Amino acid sequence: MSDSRNKSKRSSKGADLQNDGFQHQARKRFGQNFLHDQNIIQKILQSIRPQDSDHIVEIGPGQGALTRHLLQTCSKLDAVELDRDLAAYLVQTLGDDSRFALQQGDVLKFDFSTLTDKPHSLRIVGNLPYNISTPCMFHLLNYQALISDMTFMLQLEVVHRLAAQAGDPNYGRLGLMMQYYCQVEHLFDVPPTAFTPQPKVCSAIVRLTPHKTPPVQVIDVSCLQEVIRIAFTKRRKTLRNSLSTLISEPDLSALGIDTTLRPEKLSLADYALISDSISQARSKSRSAAPQEESNVK
Ligand code: SAM
Repeated sequence: MSDSRNKSKRSSKGADLQNDGFQHQARKRFGQNFLHDQNIIQKILQSIRPQDSDHIVEIGPGQGALTRHLLQTCSKLDAVELDRDLAAYLVQTLGDDSRFALQQGDVLKFDFSTLTDKPHSLRIVGNLPYNISTPCMFHLLNYQALISDMTFMLQLEVVHRLAAQAGDPNYGRLGLMMQYYCQVEHLFDVPPTAFTPQPKVCSAIVRLTPHKTPPVQVIDVSCLQEVIRIAFTKRRKTLRNSLSTLISEPDLSALGIDTTLRPEKLSLADYALISDSISQARSKSRSAAPQEESNVK
């Protein structure tokens, strides 16, 4: 056993030790706040409602607070854990179950397509390390066609941003882009006392269900991302000012957009409209470019 384990002062309740003598000093750099509240664990399981046929992927299983319960009802459970000590502990305690596989490494580099090629088959679960929760969700969106749903514990403030609608002070880039890809449901809040060690912030459970058909269609998603990013870079500016480098005020007005509004007043559909207008203008100027060259010749 490593020194760091011997130095641990965690109670057996907090560490979900199952009386097997494993002790682990929580590592702040890995965002380790371990769930110990059994009522919250049950509530999370009720939200996920695992089925016998499910292929579950747990991100950051830690000491297995959720893992052991999830393994009771599923056909396969892949877990991705960065901490080598925790990974070794989980392999030692759960490795005999042929449905369980542990991938030791960084979830941000993990290729989820190595787990399946079956569309909408993966159910992703995780009490995510808060320091990487946003990049982790966007990394997963690269595999959205393989994912059935994602249930995450996140910082409450992040869940507010994910679920925010136009006009809400939390409305912005994160919510707009996530809502483009997924249905977002804020399920319930979790107090700091549910964890060991206790985080300084409140948490919440969110369910993200990738849309089979996006709520709005756009010609170019990267253009939509660019428009939203630039619009919210200066939230206090009106659209005619913030978007002036992308689209002229008359062109914006011609789309039926009130150019004196601030970015938080526009819906995803409005941003899609602006994005498509810019994409069309760009593709027109691209197709005009070779013509001009041949004229010169
Ligand atoms: N699921 C456990 C629980 O609820 O008690 C632990 C949750 S703890 C908030 C986050 C977990 O993610 C830790 O086990 C941590 O080691 C792991 N982790 C941190 N960064 C990671 C990364 N980049 N890739 C995979 N796992 C990571």
